[in-house]
Amino acid sequence: MSQISERKSTIHVALFPSSGMGHLTPFLRLAASLVANDVRVTFIAAHPTVSLAESRALSSFFTSFPQVSPKQLCLLPNDESSSNTDDPFYRRYEVICSSCRLLPPLLSSISPPLSALITDMSLISAVLPVSRAIGLPNYVFFTSSAKMLTLFMSFHKIFVTKAMPGSQDNKDVIEIPNQEPIPVSWFPPPLLEEEDNFLKNSLIQNGKSMVDADGILINTFDDFEPDTLNALNNAKMPCGLPPAIAIGLLPPANFGESHSHPLAWLGNQPIGSVIYVSFGSRTAMSRDQIRELGDGLVQSSVRFVWMVKSKKVDQEDTEDLEDVIGQKLMTATSGAANGLVVNRWLNQSEILGHPVIGGFLSHCGWNSVTEAVWHGVPMLAWPQHGDQKINASVVKRAGIGIWEESWGWGEKDMVKGEEIAERVKETMRDESLKARAASMKEAARTALGVDRDSGRGFKALLTEMWGAK
Ligand code: UDP
Repeated sequence: MSQISERKSTIHVALFPSSGMGHLTPFLRLAASLVANDVRVTFIAAHPTVSLAESRALSSFFTSFPQVSPKQLCLLPNDESSSNTDDPFYRRYEVICSSCRLLPPLLSSISPPLSALITDMSLISAVLPVSRAIGLPNYVFFTSSAKMLTLFMSFHKIFVTKAMPGSQDNKDVIEIPNQEPIPVSWFPPPLLEEEDNFLKNSLIQNGKSMVDADGILINTFDDFEPDTLNALNNAKMPCGLPPAIAIGLLPPANFGESHSHPLAWLGNQPIGSVIYVSFGSRTAMSRDQIRELGDGLVQSSVRFVWMVKSKKVDQEDTEDLEDVIGQKLMTATSGAANGLVVNRWLNQSEILGHPVIGGFLSHCGWNSVTEAVWHGVPMLAWPQHGDQKINASVVKRAGIGIWEESWGWGEKDMVKGEEIAERVKETMRDESLKARAASMKEAARTALGVDRDSGRGFKALLTEMWGAK
């Protein structure tokens, strides 16, 4: 063993994600990348999970990576009447936070002793007091874009200065210290509400706590978000934030199941001819919008694979496909005409990597964006809620996708089938998007190289964790 890998193998890191596949997936990818760098990894998973997708992903991950030690944080019972959200994933964040008092014995039972803890951005305000008390370095893994980080870290200040819409300083854009202003229309809608809500409180508490973390890791890379990363690290940070370390793109780890049905269908299509349509793991579209989308896909005459979802949590998505998409659409898409509609979990990264995929109609969850970049697939962005408009702005600025801003928020505004058909055709025939997506793919795959920013960031992180021992 070389001297460097001897050093790395003495680093022992615990990873602690929040709930939902959008948080679990990047943590599993980070665990795989740390293992590939000879780091010893303990993975702390809150138990039980909200979705079936999470429990399945965890069990196949631990089977594929036996070198990672699993630890369960068994959640304490929670009084739901005190919650200020009805979103099952947000509720689970609350329960995980209140169960953090179980962390001290769990962390001290881990052997050999830990060099550092890497905590999800939505849990950091609850976890930092625990890690500080035992003198354990604690890094935040920010599971969205660097652009979203700029809002996350400054929201508590903006909020306090009352520069929010609805106040006397009502504006179209909000100034972010040392960064480009962000249009108010891109803000996650709950942040603009007058009354208290879960997301607002979470951003305020976790945004404030981040200042005390040892570093903020982001699954992005310099060629993809150059201005934001540059301003985050090179400007004088007014709020004294720790370094924002780009560590991406983390390669999609190979442990998911393959799904022979769509893969067999895909195998019979021409190269680059199919658009993949999915809104992630927790976005349920309205029945009316599902039908408009279906009409749009059929009208476009572009071949498609569509993962349709009508419930937030996968176990509840039990309705027959025909009841969800309607008989007309069922007939139009049956017999493998120009499309395939599926209402169950697919291995998205595997599908995006298939050579027949030439476009991705996506809500722009950050993992979906990074997977499209990794596979060089141009995007049609249709943000539904949360950080997704800010992520869509990153996609548009990088020149790898189209974002029709007039569509508004998917969860609020209705978009007609004809408009969807037009944008789908435009995405699939735009040669400049294809060329840009192909060059961003090359940049993504080399970003973790030794002479590139993410590679240096990852190495610096390992060196720092080794030094902290
Ligand atoms: N995903 C998948 N199959 C599905 C739905 C989602 O593999 O049928 C994966 C997707 O590839 C991504 C993650 O689930 O890695 C969803 O995270 P993202 O940040 O894109 O969106 P979210 O689900 O958090 O809104």
